[in-house]
Amino acid sequence: IPQHIEDLFAQLNPQQRAAACHDSGSLLIIAGAGTGKTTTLSHRVAWLISQGIDPSRILLLTFSRRAANEMVRRVDALLRAMGDSREHAASARSRSIWGGTFHSTAARLLRRYGQSIGLPDDFTIIDRSDAEDLMSSLRSELELGNNVAKFPRKGTLVEIYSRCVNTCLKLEPVLERYYPWCLEHVEALKQLFQAFVDRKEQQNILDYDDLLLFWHALSSDPAGGKLLRGQFEAVLVDEYQDTNVLQSGILKNLCPDGAGLTVVGDDAQSIYSFRAATVRNILDFPEEYPGTTVVTLEENYRSTQPILAATNQIIDEAHERYEKKLWSSKIAGEPPILVDCSDNNEQADFVVTQVLEHLEAGIPLNQQAVLFRASHHSLALEVELARRNIAYHKYGGLKFIETAHVKDLMAYLRLAENPRDAVSGLRVLTLLPGIGQKKAQQLLNLLAESGFRFDAWSEFKPPAATVEHWPLFIRLMKNLSSPQSEKKGISSEVHQVRTFYSPLLDQQYDNGPARQRDLEQLEQVASRFSSRMSFLEEITLDPPSSTQDIANDSSKTDDDFLVLSTIHSSKGLEWDAVYVLQAADGSIPSEMSLESNDEIDEERRLFYVALTRAKNWLYVCFPHRQYFQNRRWNQAHSYAQLTRFISSKTLPLFQRRPAFNAEDLDTPEEAQIETTAEDIRKNIRNMWSS
Ligand code: ATP
Ligand code: MG
Repeated sequence: IPQHIEDLFAQLNPQQRAAACHDSGSLLIIAGAGTGKTTTLSHRVAWLISQGIDPSRILLLTFSRRAANEMVRRVDALLRAMGDSREHAASARSRSIWGGTFHSTAARLLRRYGQSIGLPDDFTIIDRSDAEDLMSSLRSELELGNNVAKFPRKGTLVEIYSRCVNTCLKLEPVLERYYPWCLEHVEALKQLFQAFVDRKEQQNILDYDDLLLFWHALSSDPAGGKLLRGQFEAVLVDEYQDTNVLQSGILKNLCPDGAGLTVVGDDAQSIYSFRAATVRNILDFPEEYPGTTVVTLEENYRSTQPILAATNQIIDEAHERYEKKLWSSKIAGEPPILVDCSDNNEQADFVVTQVLEHLEAGIPLNQQAVLFRASHHSLALEVELARRNIAYHKYGGLKFIETAHVKDLMAYLRLAENPRDAVSGLRVLTLLPGIGQKKAQQLLNLLAESGFRFDAWSEFKPPAATVEHWPLFIRLMKNLSSPQSEKKGISSEVHQVRTFYSPLLDQQYDNGPARQRDLEQLEQVASRFSSRMSFLEEITLDPPSSTQDIANDSSKTDDDFLVLSTIHSSKGLEWDAVYVLQAADGSIPSEMSLESNDEIDEERRLFYVALTRAKNWLYVCFPHRQYFQNRRWNQAHSYAQLTRFISSKTLPLFQRRPAFNAEDLDTPEEAQIETTAEDIRKNIRNMWSS
């Protein structure tokens, strides 16, 4: 190993270095939170490139686009630091790495190679909520479950469908295991799902599951597999514990004997089994690829020892896991704090006060994060942050792109891109006053008959309410679908749509001005994309949480903001100070999980993920009073229990204190109380004596 590379890798410990500089045999790094798995992985990518592997032949799969960008940035820095003669090319080289999520990689590959399995290369991608809408319109079309009280709702329908696809299981076993109450509808469901598959094909659309499914199919095909294997020389996967059967199947097809394959993960952090991920993938990896080198890491570089003591204890109590002994050399540090709050509002007050206190002491907002199980847990806090004018970004939960007005705008573009996409067609047609589902359907039929030329709509006599809009609408669609349109750039297209759509938006929704601003932002953002397709794809596959989130690469802005995130979206990240909200039974573990031990265990791992994000300060908040509306619509409250994950063994590892009046807290056993009740009695007695 040349000296300059040696130096660079000197910051790694021996196990990490061995993993980073491992030869091409299959490699598994299975290790606890904060032990440097992701760090090692980016060093490994840099190492591979330094060994002469062409970066465009490296596939790096991560859990989000943010994570991929961050990794590529680190690889970039490493390559520069290696400082060889090709320094200037370093960044161009690292940019040509295939980095991203399984889904976005699937989309890229299918556009390039999909034709070989008969997939047109101009498909559009629909997100989860579009899939639900399609499912529900098919259901009413087929008149399924009309007279049945308990027919599953559209969200559940897509969930069932998706579980079958992602686990490669047939409908019956999936229903038996996860949705036994739907078994009576098995025939109706088969009919519906069949129609769902057909309809997506007719409309040339793929949903998230299709992306994996077709990538899997492509990689299983002898010729397709060969093509892909020729494309990639090294495949690296972070957060492998959260992959499903399809994803591990894809990897197997890409690297049949494991050569060139590196996977990294932590079984104690598997939190996506509700999306059909299976921790077996990581546990069985060595059997799947005989001769695998297994690396375990035990030093945690993230958290202080007092925080680690608490998180270790919590995960020790999990039912099934591989024993890991994590230790930290950061011996000193504040103990994690369990904060008793009277209710949600006090919890919000506490967090804001504490955040500002840390800020004052020099910890910027972006080094602090508030984590919660469910998106609505942060409502009171968001109100308080807004009131006090503290900037924050929220990740997870309802995404910006899932808001109705943004979906509307995207639907115009998608229809222009793919006129067969009837989900988008219905959406934009029914935005016009006086046009309902039925009429919209007729119009779409008309469009299909004409060979998908928007001209065909000119013969239609619009209802009075929409007379003014109609010709403008046709002109818009014709403009967007003309070949010249793309040349003017995607932001000009967004502008045209906005001009047409703005008056409709105001009629359709409240809060018009704020929504208009979102769309203006989106227009700005669009200017960064080279084609409509890439714009639609990027935004559908890795939905940003806010316009700001896409507008700026958060690492580059000077704006300091507090991070609010669901625990699920906090995976792999770390902050100086972490606040975990709502550590009450029923919130975490969520009350929906309480019926199954497996699910409760997954909630425990989720809690573990949350707490292991903290470097130096950890606050776990427990609001005692939970408000709810009683039957007479009066506000009532009940008292919550502390989350079961803080057991009697774990509790002593926390310092417990009320949110405020901390000085009163000096607990009796700590305080040196000089006066005893006996003394007082003695005094009183003395008063009457003599
Ligand atoms: P998670 O399980 O949460 O994804 P991880 O195992 O991927 O964690 P990293 O995020 O790679 O851990 O590393 C955690 C922290 O430890 C980072 O701040 C990283 O810079 C630091 N770190 C990793 N390895 C070392 C090392 N050898 N020396 C010093 N710091 C390190
Ligand atoms: Mg990591």
